[in-house]
Amino acid sequence: MSDKTQIPYKIYLAEEEMPAAWYNVRADMKKKPAPLLNPGTLKPCTAEELEHVFCKELVAQELNDKDPYIEIPEEIRNFYKMYRPSPLVRAYCLEKQLDTPAHIYYKFEGNNTSGSHKLNSAIAQAYYAKKQGLKGITTETGAGQWGTALSMACSYFGLDCIVYMVKCSYEQKPFRREVIRTYGAKAIPSPSMETNIGRKMNEEFPGTTGSLGCAISEAVEHATTHEGYRYVLGSVLNQVLLHQSVIGLETQTALKKYGIKADMIIGCAGGGSNLGGLISPFVGEMLRNEAKYQIIAVEPASCPSLTRGVYTYDFCDTGKVCPIQKMYTLGSSFMPSPNHAGGLRYHGMSCIVSELYNQGLIQARAVEQTEVFKAAEQFARIEGILPAPESSHAIKVAIDEALKCKQTGESKNIVFGLTGTGYFDMKAYEAFNDGKMSDYIPTDADIKKSTDAIPKFNVNF
Ligand SMILES: *Cc1c(COP(=O)(O)O)cnc(C)c1O
Repeated sequence: MSDKTQIPYKIYLAEEEMPAAWYNVRADMKKKPAPLLNPGTLKPCTAEELEHVFCKELVAQELNDKDPYIEIPEEIRNFYKMYRPSPLVRAYCLEKQLDTPAHIYYKFEGNNTSGSHKLNSAIAQAYYAKKQGLKGITTETGAGQWGTALSMACSYFGLDCIVYMVKCSYEQKPFRREVIRTYGAKAIPSPSMETNIGRKMNEEFPGTTGSLGCAISEAVEHATTHEGYRYVLGSVLNQVLLHQSVIGLETQTALKKYGIKADMIIGCAGGGSNLGGLISPFVGEMLRNEAKYQIIAVEPASCPSLTRGVYTYDFCDTGKVCPIQKMYTLGSSFMPSPNHAGGLRYHGMSCIVSELYNQGLIQARAVEQTEVFKAAEQFARIEGILPAPESSHAIKVAIDEALKCKQTGESKNIVFGLTGTGYFDMKAYEAFNDGKMSDYIPTDADIKKSTDAIPKFNVNF
């Protein structure tokens, strides 16, 4: 009997197989990620300090490294039911085209209007803001997916939503901007003239197309200077990885149901939230000595924080208004080349993903943009889904690994995260189709310049 008769293309889960609790991998880590520090005192941030910037309940989640499971409130589960569980798909057509003995599965998070996994955390963060009785929330968006997801979540709960959108995306992605506005949020190109840090950046770097780090500073400044507002972040933070653990938990359930043991798990890494969410339950198994997996974080060669950054305390934002975090970083002054398409432009990395990488539990690989788009095109043509450029980093490595299996004859089970769709990234696809896409790889000197600029904090975590 061929395996095709045993395993359907799409493994849909019944509603009751959606998790009732998020999984907090920090609880199972013997060596925990280093704490967020107050850059003034260099002491771990207290809940009280963080509550000026973030919603109260989310601060509790941020600081919780004890409880392995945190219940998902019913209102959030009800929202999840509109688009979850998301399917785990066996890429039969791709396998056949590659002529590989490997089995390839992808967890598809693009089945919602925001087009990515980001809605998983947006709805949770909007829920806790509403529960706290706030007027609204502020945020930044790079490629635009987070702003879209948050505008959807805020309109659902009737919250005001202010989105600082990195200027190059604001200009390159008018359609995403309009989706954000359609859901009732205010999109402001960053650097803007609305905040001190925005005005300063515009003065120092006239004509700058902005960066995620700068947009973060603007959104934080806006939240802390307006009554009844808090700031929310779509990646990097522990709470975001916690919410994204629904991806990994559902994947784990689906694989168990069909008796499949993953050998390799691959995810793209910008700030680390989809990757962290996908791998957390599997890393948990590794930490408890129940199983072993090869896990690969894939990042762009143009913004290679894990593969070429340093592991140290650094600022999370350009304006240096946020707490400092120990992570793999290229330095908060690192400006990725504007020719790099869309997301995965962040200078740092989630402290959980950083610590797992430092402990050798996961690997990292950097890939070049044109190779990524070649993989995206191949995938779109054979599997039907037009992938987001970010997601295509994972596709590229999944294809590479499947081709390695062809050489060795191993039939590994490869699982990768397909984080979203690329309909709003057609400018980048256009550049690729026109043969105008280039690869920019920062030189060692470029990276040294921004990593040397990281202050030497005198701390011992
Ligand atoms: C934001 C985004 C990413 C990268 O963010 P992470 O926090 O690293 O997950 C990847 N894929 C898509 C589609 C995104 O929107």
